[in-house]
Amino acid sequence: MDKFDFVRTELEALKASGLYGTMRTVESAQGAWITVDGRKVLNLCSNNYLGLANSPMLKRAVRKNMAQHGIGAGAARLISGTHTLHVQFEKALSRFKKTDDCLFFASGWCANIGTIQAITGSGDVIFSDELNHGSLIDASRLSRAKTVVYQHRDFSHLRRVLKEADDARRKLIVTDGVFSMDGDLAPLPEIVQLAEEHKALVMVDDAHGEGVLGDHGRGIVDHFGLHGKVDIEMGTMSKAFGVIGGYIAGRAEFIDFMRHKARTSLLATAPTLIDVAACLAAINVVEESERLVKKLWSNTTFFKKSMQSLGFDIGHSETPIIPVMVKDERRAQEFEEDLFKQGIFAHAIVYPTVPKGEARLRVQISAVHKRDDLKYALDKLDAIGHRLGVPA
Ligand SMILES: *Cc1c(COP(=O)(O)O)cnc(C)c1O
Repeated sequence: MDKFDFVRTELEALKASGLYGTMRTVESAQGAWITVDGRKVLNLCSNNYLGLANSPMLKRAVRKNMAQHGIGAGAARLISGTHTLHVQFEKALSRFKKTDDCLFFASGWCANIGTIQAITGSGDVIFSDELNHGSLIDASRLSRAKTVVYQHRDFSHLRRVLKEADDARRKLIVTDGVFSMDGDLAPLPEIVQLAEEHKALVMVDDAHGEGVLGDHGRGIVDHFGLHGKVDIEMGTMSKAFGVIGGYIAGRAEFIDFMRHKARTSLLATAPTLIDVAACLAAINVVEESERLVKKLWSNTTFFKKSMQSLGFDIGHSETPIIPVMVKDERRAQEFEEDLFKQGIFAHAIVYPTVPKGEARLRVQISAVHKRDDLKYALDKLDAIGHRLGVPA
């Protein structure tokens, strides 16, 4: 027997069930059109919502800061890795988010794991939307708190489970702001109301809302006018802001606590100085002008309206994440393959990422798309979709 037999068995099982995805290789910079496996394609599956991933302004900031500060931070934040750039960036981010303070992590994943693990433990209860991101699920498991999963966006279900747990030591409601497979929003005002009634903490993971929702893309809390009412805002610099890194924002005392408690910050080397320089430049770009956010939304509105008039079912999206419902798994995969051959890069999302029979193509709109790019995509989606019987 070989020690790695289990690896072979599991790989074979993945392949047999159609879950062994092939990784395509991107050979160009991010943008509306990219080169993937030697083919030039229109990119409809990037989180680069504002087009900042290849922004000349960010590149200039990186070059300048790299010349002055170099690359690595040298240590974990609390040991000796906090650089003046980290401090400057956290100040800028707090101003942008309209919160007292914030803490920057190497990734959004680290921010979620470090935060939930620091604030909950055995005797506590975490209330989690059933469609929450995997990092929140893993974070809840690591915390050793009891996790109660409530039905998607269902605040009457949430109310019921909160009541049942009224004697818990500490309660934390955690939700994605924007749900990444459907593009719908958490009912944050209702969640905040329930949290107040039951003395629960509220944490929102706004990975797909930062740079997208609210005034200048300040996020979902700004979108709903809930400043000061959501205890913990988590966001990432890796999506709309086009770089890497995650953060939490909130009141000063809480962030101070987190600086000393979050294991994914305490035990991990601080983000590189070139990443931080790029992040700082990204926040400055978005704060100074709302042009990119506006362009993102006008592209999104145009694309959604056009898809609906072509007869497609685009679900309940309220954001630039647009599910194109296909239902059948095999047909969704064919849709993806045929589109790719015609120069359109979009992903089929199938079971188990979404429930069986709810397979879809997921399209993401960006401010880098020109109107003609979107028209090109609409033509191809229409032609290939109708040949495959989508919409039915
Ligand atoms: C992408 C994502 C994360 C992880 O953020 P990274 O910065 O990529 O590590 C966390 N939560 C949600 C909802 C996400 O979409």
